[in-house]
Amino acid sequence: MNLSDQWDILSAARRTIPVPVTSLPARLGIGLKSAFLPAGISGMLERDRGSFLVTINALDPDTRQRFTLAHELGHYMLHRHLVGDGLDDDRAYRSTEAGKYHNTLIGPKEETEANKFAANLLMPREAIMRERDRLGDNVVEMARLFGVSEQAMSIRLGQPYS
Ligand SMILES: [Zn+2]
Repeated sequence: MNLSDQWDILSAARRTIPVPVTSLPARLGIGLKSAFLPAGISGMLERDRGSFLVTINALDPDTRQRFTLAHELGHYMLHRHLVGDGLDDDRAYRSTEAGKYHNTLIGPKEETEANKFAANLLMPREAIMRERDRLGDNVVEMARLFGVSEQAMSIRLGQPYS
């Protein structure tokens, strides 16, 4: 599957709220696994049998698992040339020594890009504007609707999180 087909799949998925993020790896041709990762590791992206595999920490809350998956898909779409054998993300979404790979090619710039990708995927601008008109700045309702944490939604809505 070429890159442009993959971007089309991602755009199409953003038209459904909550975005069906767990169905995306299969549709993009990569693997998805849920596992008990070491404490402090939220997700991994690894090369696997000619493709890639995303692993999400099964102990994390649902909304965090969705965000981690979207973040790893960001690394896959934007940084696959830097992945090497793999990368690990800690709870702050930083490549970490505590993980299996400690990929040093993935730095703060790549992490910011993957976080932006994840926010755009899970909280598409058009849908945010539409639902905000309907619900107002109700962060709790908006977070529930989009399947994200209240913190992630607050940031997306440009409100300070307390
Ligand atoms: Zn990352």
